[in-house]
Amino acid sequence: MIKTYKFRLRPTKKQIEKLDWTLETCRTLYNSCLVDRNRHYKETCKGLSRIDQQRILVQDKKNITYLTDIHSQVLQDVLFRVEKAYKNFFRRLKDKSGKAGFPRFKLVGRYDSITYTQSGFEIIDGKLILSKIGTVKLKQNRSIKGIVKTCNIKKENNKWYVCLSVKYTKYTVYNSIVKEKIIINNHIGVDMGIKSLAVLSNGKVISNPKYLAKSEDKLIKKQKQLSKKKKGSNNRKKEVKKVAKFHKRIVNQRKDFQHKESRKIVDNYDAIGAEDLKIKNVVKNHHLAKSIHDSGWGQFLSYLKYKAEEAGKLFMKVNPRNTSKTCYKCGYIYKEMTLDIREWICPVCHTMHDRDVNAANIIDKRMLEKIRLEWPKYTLAETGSMDDIVDSNIYALKSIPSLKQEASSVRAR
Ligand SMILES: [Zn+2]
Repeated sequence: MIKTYKFRLRPTKKQIEKLDWTLETCRTLYNSCLVDRNRHYKETCKGLSRIDQQRILVQDKKNITYLTDIHSQVLQDVLFRVEKAYKNFFRRLKDKSGKAGFPRFKLVGRYDSITYTQSGFEIIDGKLILSKIGTVKLKQNRSIKGIVKTCNIKKENNKWYVCLSVKYTKYTVYNSIVKEKIIINNHIGVDMGIKSLAVLSNGKVISNPKYLAKSEDKLIKKQKQLSKKKKGSNNRKKEVKKVAKFHKRIVNQRKDFQHKESRKIVDNYDAIGAEDLKIKNVVKNHHLAKSIHDSGWGQFLSYLKYKAEEAGKLFMKVNPRNTSKTCYKCGYIYKEMTLDIREWICPVCHTMHDRDVNAANIIDKRMLEKIRLEWPKYTLAETGSMDDIVDSNIYALKSIPSLKQEASSVRAR
Protein backbone atom coordinates (compact mmCIF):
# COMPACT_ATOMS: atom_id res chain seq x y z
CA MET A 1 0.00 0.00 0.00
CA ILE A 2 1.55 3.28 -1.08
CA LYS A 3 0.47 6.55 0.42
CA THR A 4 1.82 10.05 -0.11
CA TYR A 5 2.25 12.68 2.56
CA LYS A 6 2.77 16.30 1.56
CA PHE A 7 4.23 18.79 4.03
CA ARG A 8 5.28 22.41 3.77
CA LEU A 9 8.99 23.08 4.17
CA ARG A 10 10.56 26.15 5.73
CA PRO A 11 14.08 26.27 4.33
CA THR A 12 16.51 29.02 5.34
CA LYS A 13 17.72 31.59 2.82
CA LYS A 14 20.91 29.63 2.33
CA GLN A 15 19.02 26.37 1.86
CA ILE A 16 16.71 28.01 -0.70
CA GLU A 17 19.82 29.09 -2.60
CA LYS A 18 21.16 25.53 -2.56
CA LEU A 19 17.76 24.08 -3.53
CA ASP A 20 17.38 26.52 -6.42
CA TRP A 21 20.91 25.75 -7.55
CA THR A 22 20.18 22.02 -7.39
CA LEU A 23 17.00 22.43 -9.46
CA GLU A 24 18.87 24.49 -12.02
CA THR A 25 21.75 22.00 -12.21
CA CYS A 26 19.32 19.10 -12.60
CA ARG A 27 17.51 21.03 -15.32
CA THR A 28 20.80 21.49 -17.18
CA LEU A 29 21.59 17.80 -16.76
CA TYR A 30 18.12 16.89 -18.06
CA ASN A 31 18.58 19.03 -21.15
CA SER A 32 22.08 17.77 -21.84
CA CYS A 33 20.78 14.20 -21.59
CA LEU A 34 18.24 15.05 -24.30
CA VAL A 35 21.02 16.55 -26.44
CA ASP A 36 23.19 13.46 -25.91
CA ARG A 37 20.37 11.12 -26.89
CA ASN A 38 19.51 13.07 -30.02
CA ARG A 39 23.12 13.44 -31.09
CA HIS A 40 23.85 9.79 -30.47
CA TYR A 41 20.86 8.78 -32.55
CA LYS A 42 21.87 11.05 -35.44
CA GLU A 43 25.41 9.72 -35.41
CA THR A 44 24.77 6.01 -34.92
CA CYS A 45 21.05 5.49 -35.69
CA LYS A 46 20.91 3.80 -32.30
CA GLY A 47 19.28 4.99 -29.13
CA LEU A 48 21.09 5.85 -25.93
CA SER A 49 19.62 4.06 -22.92
CA ARG A 50 19.36 5.24 -19.35
CA ILE A 51 22.01 2.73 -18.40
CA ASP A 52 24.37 4.22 -21.00
CA GLN A 53 23.63 7.64 -19.59
CA GLN A 54 24.29 6.42 -16.07
CA ARG A 55 27.75 5.35 -17.14
CA ILE A 56 28.33 8.74 -18.74
CA LEU A 57 27.16 10.39 -15.53
CA VAL A 58 29.61 8.40 -13.41
CA GLN A 59 32.40 9.62 -15.71
CA ASP A 60 31.08 13.18 -15.69
CA LYS A 61 31.14 13.22 -11.91
CA LYS A 62 34.88 12.70 -12.02
CA ASN A 63 35.39 15.73 -14.29
CA ILE A 64 32.58 18.06 -13.28
CA THR A 65 33.22 18.30 -9.57
CA TYR A 66 30.16 20.34 -8.64
CA LEU A 67 27.96 17.40 -9.60
CA THR A 68 29.12 15.75 -6.38
CA ASP A 69 27.37 18.58 -4.49
CA ILE A 70 24.11 16.85 -5.43
CA HIS A 71 23.08 13.54 -3.92
CA SER A 72 23.77 10.69 -6.34
CA GLN A 73 20.14 9.51 -6.29
CA VAL A 74 18.84 12.95 -7.14
CA LEU A 75 21.09 12.93 -10.20
CA GLN A 76 20.07 9.41 -11.09
CA ASP A 77 16.43 10.42 -10.88
CA VAL A 78 17.03 13.01 -13.61
CA LEU A 79 18.03 10.17 -15.93
CA PHE A 80 14.88 8.28 -15.00
CA ARG A 81 12.83 11.34 -15.95
CA VAL A 82 14.57 11.58 -19.33
CA GLU A 83 13.88 7.90 -19.92
CA LYS A 84 10.25 8.36 -18.97
CA ALA A 85 9.86 11.29 -21.36
CA TYR A 86 11.18 9.13 -24.22
CA LYS A 87 9.09 6.13 -23.26
CA ASN A 88 5.96 8.28 -23.22
CA PHE A 89 6.88 9.75 -26.58
CA PHE A 90 7.32 6.32 -28.18
CA ARG A 91 4.09 5.08 -26.59
CA ARG A 92 2.13 8.01 -28.01
CA LEU A 93 3.79 7.42 -31.36
CA LYS A 94 2.67 3.79 -31.29
CA ASP A 95 -0.83 4.59 -30.10
CA LYS A 96 -1.13 7.32 -32.72
CA SER A 97 -3.05 9.23 -30.10
CA GLY A 98 -2.91 12.85 -31.18
CA LYS A 99 0.42 14.64 -31.32
CA ALA A 100 3.34 12.49 -30.24
CA GLY A 101 5.26 15.49 -28.89
CA PHE A 102 8.99 14.85 -28.97
CA PRO A 103 10.66 15.26 -25.50
CA ARG A 104 11.36 18.96 -25.07
CA PHE A 105 13.97 20.94 -23.25
CA LYS A 106 12.98 22.22 -19.85
CA LEU A 107 13.06 26.02 -19.85
CA VAL A 108 14.32 28.05 -16.90
CA GLY A 109 12.00 27.57 -13.95
CA ARG A 110 10.20 24.61 -15.50
CA TYR A 111 12.18 22.00 -13.63
CA ASP A 112 10.53 22.29 -10.26
CA SER A 113 11.29 19.19 -8.22
CA ILE A 114 14.01 16.76 -7.23
CA THR A 115 13.64 13.23 -5.88
CA TYR A 116 15.64 11.17 -3.45
CA THR A 117 14.68 7.74 -4.73
CA GLN A 118 15.75 5.54 -1.79
CA SER A 119 17.94 7.28 0.70
CA GLY A 120 19.69 10.50 1.58
CA PHE A 121 16.83 11.88 3.64
CA GLU A 122 15.52 11.40 7.14
CA ILE A 123 12.91 12.94 9.42
CA ILE A 124 13.97 13.51 12.98
CA ASP A 125 12.21 15.68 15.58
CA GLY A 126 10.03 17.44 13.04
CA LYS A 127 12.93 18.25 10.78
CA LEU A 128 13.78 16.92 7.37
CA ILE A 129 17.45 16.11 6.96
CA LEU A 130 18.40 16.19 3.30
CA SER A 131 21.80 15.01 2.16
CA LYS A 132 23.75 17.84 0.45
CA ILE A 133 21.09 20.39 1.42
CA GLY A 134 20.92 20.39 5.21
CA THR A 135 18.39 20.16 8.03
CA VAL A 136 15.17 21.80 6.85
CA LYS A 137 12.30 22.85 9.10
CA LEU A 138 9.17 20.90 8.36
CA LYS A 139 5.54 21.74 9.06
CA GLN A 140 4.46 18.21 9.83
CA ASN A 141 0.80 18.20 10.77
CA ARG A 142 0.37 14.44 10.97
CA SER A 143 2.59 11.55 11.87
CA ILE A 144 3.90 9.22 9.21
CA LYS A 145 2.99 5.57 9.41
CA GLY A 146 5.02 3.06 7.47
CA ILE A 147 8.31 3.14 5.64
CA VAL A 148 9.18 6.19 3.59
CA LYS A 149 10.31 5.04 0.17
CA THR A 150 10.92 8.21 -1.81
CA CYS A 151 11.28 11.87 -0.97
CA ASN A 152 10.33 14.51 -3.51
CA ILE A 153 11.14 18.18 -2.92
CA LYS A 154 8.91 20.50 -4.89
CA LYS A 155 8.82 24.23 -5.52
CA GLU A 156 5.33 25.60 -6.07
CA ASN A 157 4.68 29.34 -6.32
CA ASN A 158 7.96 30.04 -4.56
CA LYS A 159 6.94 27.79 -1.68
CA TRP A 160 8.73 24.55 -0.91
CA TYR A 161 7.07 21.22 -0.17
CA VAL A 162 8.12 17.69 0.52
CA CYS A 163 6.12 14.74 -0.82
CA LEU A 164 6.94 11.49 0.91
CA SER A 165 5.68 8.28 -0.61
CA VAL A 166 5.23 5.73 2.11
CA LYS A 167 4.88 1.98 1.90
CA TYR A 168 2.73 0.74 4.68
CA THR A 169 3.53 -2.75 5.85
CA LYS A 170 3.05 -3.58 9.44
CA TYR A 171 4.77 -6.60 10.95
CA THR A 172 3.78 -8.03 14.26
CA VAL A 173 6.40 -10.20 15.88
CA TYR A 174 6.82 -11.88 19.19
CA ASN A 175 9.66 -10.48 21.23
CA SER A 176 10.96 -13.29 23.38
CA ILE A 177 12.84 -10.95 25.68
CA VAL A 178 9.93 -8.80 26.75
CA LYS A 179 7.60 -11.77 26.13
CA GLU A 180 5.04 -9.85 24.17
CA LYS A 181 4.07 -9.10 20.63
CA ILE A 182 5.61 -6.01 19.19
CA ILE A 183 4.59 -4.10 16.12
CA ILE A 184 7.23 -3.12 13.64
CA ASN A 185 6.23 -0.02 11.74
CA ASN A 186 9.69 0.84 10.63
CA HIS A 187 13.02 -0.90 10.57
CA ILE A 188 16.60 -0.09 9.77
CA GLY A 189 19.89 -1.76 8.89
CA VAL A 190 23.12 -0.55 10.45
CA ASP A 191 26.40 -1.11 8.60
CA MET A 192 29.41 -0.47 10.79
CA GLY A 193 31.99 1.71 9.07
CA ILE A 194 35.72 2.21 9.13
CA LYS A 195 35.95 5.94 8.46
CA SER A 196 32.55 6.70 9.91
CA LEU A 197 31.01 4.94 12.88
CA ALA A 198 28.12 3.54 10.88
CA VAL A 199 25.97 3.96 7.78
CA LEU A 200 22.22 3.36 7.95
CA SER A 201 19.95 1.83 5.33
CA ASN A 202 18.15 5.18 5.03
CA GLY A 203 21.40 6.68 3.74
CA LYS A 204 22.42 8.46 6.91
CA VAL A 205 26.11 8.47 7.74
CA ILE A 206 27.07 8.63 11.40
CA SER A 207 30.51 10.22 11.30
CA ASN A 208 32.98 9.94 14.10
CA PRO A 209 33.18 13.43 15.58
CA LYS A 210 36.25 15.53 14.84
CA TYR A 211 37.07 16.11 18.50
CA LEU A 212 37.57 12.37 18.93
CA ALA A 213 40.06 12.16 16.10
CA LYS A 214 41.86 15.20 17.48
CA SER A 215 42.02 13.71 20.96
CA GLU A 216 43.29 10.43 19.55
CA ASP A 217 46.07 12.19 17.66
CA LYS A 218 47.04 13.98 20.86
CA LEU A 219 47.10 10.73 22.77
CA ILE A 220 49.44 9.12 20.25
CA LYS A 221 51.79 12.12 20.56
CA LYS A 222 51.73 11.94 24.33
CA GLN A 223 52.45 8.25 24.29
CA LYS A 224 55.45 8.83 22.03
CA GLN A 225 56.81 11.51 24.33
CA LEU A 226 56.31 9.19 27.25
CA SER A 227 58.33 6.43 25.66
CA LYS A 228 61.30 8.81 25.46
CA LYS A 229 61.27 9.53 29.19
CA LYS A 230 63.71 7.67 31.42
CA LYS A 231 62.24 4.59 33.03
CA GLY A 232 61.73 4.79 36.79
CA SER A 233 62.10 8.58 36.84
CA ASN A 234 59.63 10.67 38.80
CA ASN A 235 58.98 12.69 35.69
CA ARG A 236 57.90 9.58 33.88
CA LYS A 237 55.58 8.47 36.66
CA LYS A 238 53.86 11.85 36.54
CA GLU A 239 53.50 11.60 32.78
CA VAL A 240 52.11 8.07 32.97
CA LYS A 241 49.34 9.34 35.22
CA LYS A 242 48.60 12.24 32.86
CA VAL A 243 48.42 9.99 29.81
CA ALA A 244 46.19 7.52 31.60
CA LYS A 245 43.85 10.35 32.57
CA PHE A 246 43.77 11.62 29.02
CA HIS A 247 43.08 8.12 27.70
CA LYS A 248 40.16 7.78 30.07
CA ARG A 249 38.78 11.08 28.83
CA ILE A 250 38.79 9.83 25.24
CA VAL A 251 37.07 6.62 26.25
CA ASN A 252 34.35 8.69 27.91
CA GLN A 253 34.01 11.02 24.95
CA ARG A 254 33.50 8.03 22.67
CA LYS A 255 30.99 6.48 25.03
CA ASP A 256 28.98 9.72 25.22
CA PHE A 257 28.90 10.00 21.45
CA GLN A 258 27.86 6.39 20.95
CA HIS A 259 25.17 6.65 23.62
CA LYS A 260 23.66 9.64 21.85
CA GLU A 261 23.73 8.06 18.41
CA SER A 262 22.36 4.70 19.51
CA ARG A 263 19.58 6.51 21.41
CA LYS A 264 18.53 8.33 18.23
CA ILE A 265 18.29 5.07 16.28
CA VAL A 266 16.33 3.23 18.97
CA ASP A 267 13.94 6.17 19.39
CA ASN A 268 13.16 6.22 15.68
CA TYR A 269 13.05 2.55 14.68
CA ASP A 270 11.18 -0.49 15.94
CA ALA A 271 13.56 -3.09 14.52
CA ILE A 272 17.30 -2.64 14.14
CA GLY A 273 19.56 -5.02 12.23
CA ALA A 274 23.35 -5.24 12.30
CA GLU A 275 26.00 -7.64 11.09
CA ASP A 276 27.03 -10.51 13.30
CA LEU A 277 30.68 -9.58 13.59
CA LYS A 278 31.68 -12.81 15.27
CA ILE A 279 31.15 -14.53 11.96
CA LYS A 280 32.86 -11.81 9.98
CA ASN A 281 36.51 -12.65 9.77
CA VAL A 282 37.79 -9.13 10.20
CA VAL A 283 40.74 -10.01 12.40
CA LYS A 284 42.67 -11.40 9.44
CA ASN A 285 43.33 -7.92 8.16
CA HIS A 286 45.47 -6.31 10.81
CA HIS A 287 44.84 -2.66 9.92
CA LEU A 288 41.16 -3.21 9.49
CA ALA A 289 41.05 -4.92 12.86
CA LYS A 290 42.81 -2.03 14.53
CA SER A 291 40.51 0.61 13.17
CA ILE A 292 37.53 -1.51 14.11
CA HIS A 293 38.88 -1.77 17.60
CA ASP A 294 39.42 1.98 17.74
CA SER A 295 36.00 2.87 16.48
CA GLY A 296 34.48 0.57 19.08
CA TRP A 297 32.02 -1.39 16.96
CA GLY A 298 31.28 -3.86 19.71
CA GLN A 299 30.49 -1.13 22.19
CA PHE A 300 28.12 0.64 19.82
CA LEU A 301 26.27 -2.56 18.97
CA SER A 302 25.93 -3.45 22.64
CA TYR A 303 24.43 0.00 23.30
CA LEU A 304 21.96 -0.52 20.48
CA LYS A 305 21.06 -3.93 21.83
CA TYR A 306 20.35 -2.99 25.42
CA LYS A 307 18.61 0.28 24.53
CA ALA A 308 16.39 -1.59 22.06
CA GLU A 309 15.55 -4.27 24.61
CA GLU A 310 14.79 -1.67 27.26
CA ALA A 311 12.39 0.04 24.88
CA GLY A 312 10.71 -3.26 23.92
CA LYS A 313 12.10 -3.01 20.42
CA LEU A 314 13.96 -5.49 18.31
CA PHE A 315 17.70 -5.73 17.80
CA MET A 316 18.95 -8.48 15.52
CA LYS A 317 22.27 -9.67 14.22
CA VAL A 318 22.37 -11.10 10.71
CA ASN A 319 24.80 -13.04 8.55
CA PRO A 320 27.43 -10.58 7.25
CA ARG A 321 28.33 -12.62 4.18
CA ASN A 322 28.54 -10.53 0.98
CA THR A 323 26.61 -7.60 2.42
CA SER A 324 28.58 -5.11 0.32
CA LYS A 325 28.57 -7.27 -2.79
CA THR A 326 24.88 -8.10 -3.01
CA CYS A 327 22.52 -5.70 -4.79
CA TYR A 328 19.71 -5.04 -2.36
CA LYS A 329 17.23 -4.37 -5.13
CA CYS A 330 17.61 -7.60 -7.09
CA GLY A 331 19.97 -9.89 -5.16
CA TYR A 332 22.73 -9.98 -7.78
CA ILE A 333 26.18 -10.64 -6.30
CA TYR A 334 28.90 -8.38 -7.66
CA LYS A 335 31.90 -10.67 -7.31
CA GLU A 336 34.45 -8.19 -8.68
CA MET A 337 33.79 -5.79 -5.80
CA THR A 338 37.00 -4.59 -4.15
CA LEU A 339 37.46 -2.43 -1.05
CA ASP A 340 38.14 0.73 -3.06
CA ILE A 341 34.85 0.69 -4.96
CA ARG A 342 32.59 3.18 -3.19
CA GLU A 343 29.85 3.50 -5.82
CA TRP A 344 28.67 0.90 -8.29
CA ILE A 345 25.87 0.16 -10.72
CA CYS A 346 24.17 -3.21 -10.55
CA PRO A 347 24.61 -4.88 -13.96
CA VAL A 348 21.24 -6.62 -13.64
CA CYS A 349 18.78 -4.04 -12.34
CA HIS A 350 21.00 -0.98 -13.02
CA THR A 351 20.51 0.60 -9.63
CA MET A 352 23.30 2.96 -8.66
CA HIS A 353 24.60 2.00 -5.23
CA ASP A 354 26.59 3.66 -2.56
CA ARG A 355 28.63 0.77 -1.18
CA ASP A 356 27.77 1.26 2.49
CA VAL A 357 24.14 2.28 2.04
CA ASN A 358 23.58 -0.83 -0.08
CA ALA A 359 25.21 -3.01 2.59
CA ALA A 360 22.97 -1.46 5.25
CA ASN A 361 19.94 -2.23 3.09
CA ILE A 362 21.04 -5.85 2.70
CA ILE A 363 21.34 -6.04 6.49
CA ASP A 364 17.84 -4.57 6.82
CA LYS A 365 16.45 -7.12 4.36
CA ARG A 366 18.19 -10.04 6.03
CA MET A 367 16.73 -8.95 9.34
CA LEU A 368 13.20 -8.93 7.89
CA GLU A 369 13.85 -12.33 6.40
CA LYS A 370 15.07 -13.61 9.75
CA ILE A 371 12.03 -12.22 11.50
CA ARG A 372 9.86 -14.04 9.00
CA LEU A 373 11.73 -17.32 9.45
CA GLU A 374 12.14 -17.24 13.20
CA TRP A 375 8.65 -16.14 14.04
CA PRO A 376 6.50 -17.42 11.22
CA LYS A 377 3.57 -17.84 13.55
CA TYR A 378 3.65 -14.30 14.72
CA THR A 379 4.79 -12.50 11.65
CA LEU A 380 2.10 -11.20 9.42
CA ALA A 381 1.48 -8.26 7.27
CA GLU A 382 -1.64 -6.73 8.69
CA THR A 383 -2.06 -4.43 5.75
CA GLY A 384 -0.55 -4.35 2.32
CA SER A 385 -0.17 -7.25 -0.02
CA MET A 386 1.91 -10.39 0.37
CA ASP A 387 4.36 -8.86 -2.12
CA ASP A 388 5.51 -6.55 0.60
CA ILE A 389 6.91 -9.47 2.51
CA VAL A 390 8.15 -11.45 -0.47
CA ASP A 391 9.98 -8.26 -1.37
CA SER A 392 12.29 -8.90 1.54
CA ASN A 393 13.20 -12.32 0.25
CA ILE A 394 16.39 -11.53 -1.58
CA TYR A 395 17.61 -15.08 -1.55
CA ALA A 396 15.17 -16.31 -4.12
CA LEU A 397 16.74 -14.39 -6.96
CA LYS A 398 20.30 -15.49 -6.48
CA SER A 399 20.09 -18.80 -8.27
CA ILE A 400 18.31 -17.81 -11.47
CA PRO A 401 20.93 -18.53 -14.16
CA SER A 402 19.39 -16.44 -16.92
CA LEU A 403 19.82 -13.35 -14.79
CA LYS A 404 23.51 -14.00 -14.36
CA GLN A 405 24.01 -14.63 -18.04
CA GLU A 406 22.35 -11.37 -18.80
CA ALA A 407 24.61 -9.71 -16.31
CA SER A 408 27.78 -10.90 -17.95
CA SER A 409 26.55 -9.85 -21.36
CA VAL A 410 25.85 -6.38 -20.00
CA ARG A 411 29.38 -6.18 -18.68
CA ALA A 412 30.87 -7.39 -21.94
CA ARG A 413 29.25 -4.61 -23.89
ZN1 LIG B 1 20.45 -5.25 -8.88
